[in-house]
Amino acid sequence: MKIARSLRLAGEGLLSLLYPPHCAKCGTDTASGVHLCAACAEQAKKIEAPFCRQCSQPFDGAIDGEFTCANCTDRTFHFECAVTRYLSRGVVREFIHRFKYDRHFYLRHPLADWMAEALEDERIGTKPFDAFVPVPLHATRFRERDFNQAEVLANLLAKRTGQPVIKALKRIRYTTTQTRLDRAQRMENLRNAFRVRHASAVQSRHLILVDDVFTTGSTVEECARVLQEAGAASVRVVTVARG
Ligand SMILES: [Zn+2]
Ligand SMILES: [Zn+2]
Repeated sequence: MKIARSLRLAGEGLLSLLYPPHCAKCGTDTASGVHLCAACAEQAKKIEAPFCRQCSQPFDGAIDGEFTCANCTDRTFHFECAVTRYLSRGVVREFIHRFKYDRHFYLRHPLADWMAEALEDERIGTKPFDAFVPVPLHATRFRERDFNQAEVLANLLAKRTGQPVIKALKRIRYTTTQTRLDRAQRMENLRNAFRVRHASAVQSRHLILVDDVFTTGSTVEECARVLQEAGAASVRVVTVARG
């Protein structure tokens, strides 16, 4: 597995020597290190205010001040907020899929760019954090995919911010796909799916949980719950996009 990863990284280096940099969406020439041209970058659907303070769900219409969406109003969460700047549509959704399922590994860079914008949100910026914690994959899924997308993205955010990544969580139950399940079924499906590896690593720490997409929030909620139980001071969530 390690060899496959090194080869992929080496291959990426070779490709960038052979091909001039280009937009990963439309193929137009770009500057070195730029994976998305300005026109395609503009197509990414940004979440604009008003949005739910808890889960970043945008609201169509005018609201003054803070707002909590109907989905969050009657729930108690173990994470303070789930912050994201983009909707998982169009180019954003396409890049996430190509990165995860088609192994277009270089797309981690534009994904991390989008994610880094979430770190500038005041819900993250106004209180310091100690470390990033990636949502883990089950070992079986990891073997299939050969990388954990959340961990790859967390590592890039760590490089940019200087804050460490703590692989604090382990996924101990293999869960089937959640897409057909409703909220209650998802929570049931995820019960006891995660375990904290070393409680001492998270105790009294302010953590940023990292995942690629926030959909119903069931996965990050279950992760946040076990992190809180292990003694984390606070958990906030950052994702590339919102489903
Ligand atoms: Zn383009
Ligand atoms: Zn909400």
